[in-house]
Amino acid sequence: MIEFNTISKQWADGTQALSQVSLKVPRGQFCVILGPSGAGKSTLLRAVNGLVKPTQGFVKIDGEVLNSSTEKLLRQRVAMIHQHFNLSPRLSVASNVLAGMLPKVSMARALSGWFEPEQRDKACALVEQVGLKPEHLTRRAGDLSGGQQQRVGIARAFMLDPEVVLADEPVASLDPKISSDILGLIRDAARERNATVICSLHQVDLAREFGDRIVGMRNGKVVFDGTPAEFTDEK
Ligand code: ADP
Ligand code: ADP
Repeated sequence: MIEFNTISKQWADGTQALSQVSLKVPRGQFCVILGPSGAGKSTLLRAVNGLVKPTQGFVKIDGEVLNSSTEKLLRQRVAMIHQHFNLSPRLSVASNVLAGMLPKVSMARALSGWFEPEQRDKACALVEQVGLKPEHLTRRAGDLSGGQQQRVGIARAFMLDPEVVLADEPVASLDPKISSDILGLIRDAARERNATVICSLHQVDLAREFGDRIVGMRNGKVVFDGTPAEFTDEK
């Protein structure tokens, strides 16, 4: 369970990105944060892995408050999928997927290229699960199409069997035709592992299709919280 307890965030320039947001996201839920650009979705997601420090309130992961002393360990249980994939474009697909071990494995170890055989096996299995072929493993990540790069981003995110996956507009940079495929991969990989997904989107149709729950945000506030069936566009 992820708990956002009265989270507010004011940026140094005075922008109020979040105002008193409180939410509880149970384990295994696919929770869509739906809202237009600037609503505060990204800020909210980043509060869960410590990339954003709230000015007020706190986040709890399974009852543990996220703070400077718990952050390192809690971060190993939280993975992120980015809008712009955030891969290392010159490195191979295999290296990018193995980089999903980084919260746990030291940078020096990762750069040496040495990983346990079972870690390599896991990377291969994940690459297959997201619909890539073994021959993709040695390709440079930057040479792949956007959709393929996001598949790599998904495989990387699941390397440590995360309890929570933060997906920040994971399909906003992709051809709408493949958006459902990509969101389906995230949903299925999460379901299989009972991982919680907090996924920001701006498209109502995708929110309805994939969300177990929709949290509508506007100007840093929650303006709707319910099932897709309860969601109407005017809100
Ligand atoms: P969304 O993900 O819904 O597009 P964001 O969380 O990115 O919204 O942004 C919420 C608000 O905070 C916006 O007004 C945005 O411009 C502002 N913002 C985001 N990051 C920063 C930052 N690092 N410094 C200042 N303002 C920021
Ligand atoms: P991405 O979508 O690839 O994650 P963005 O383009 O949304 O990245 O934002 C890149 C960075 O710029 C983020 O760290 C965000 O916090 C910051 N940012 C966004 N809006 C603002 C803003 N209005 N002022 C300052 N920084 C911002």
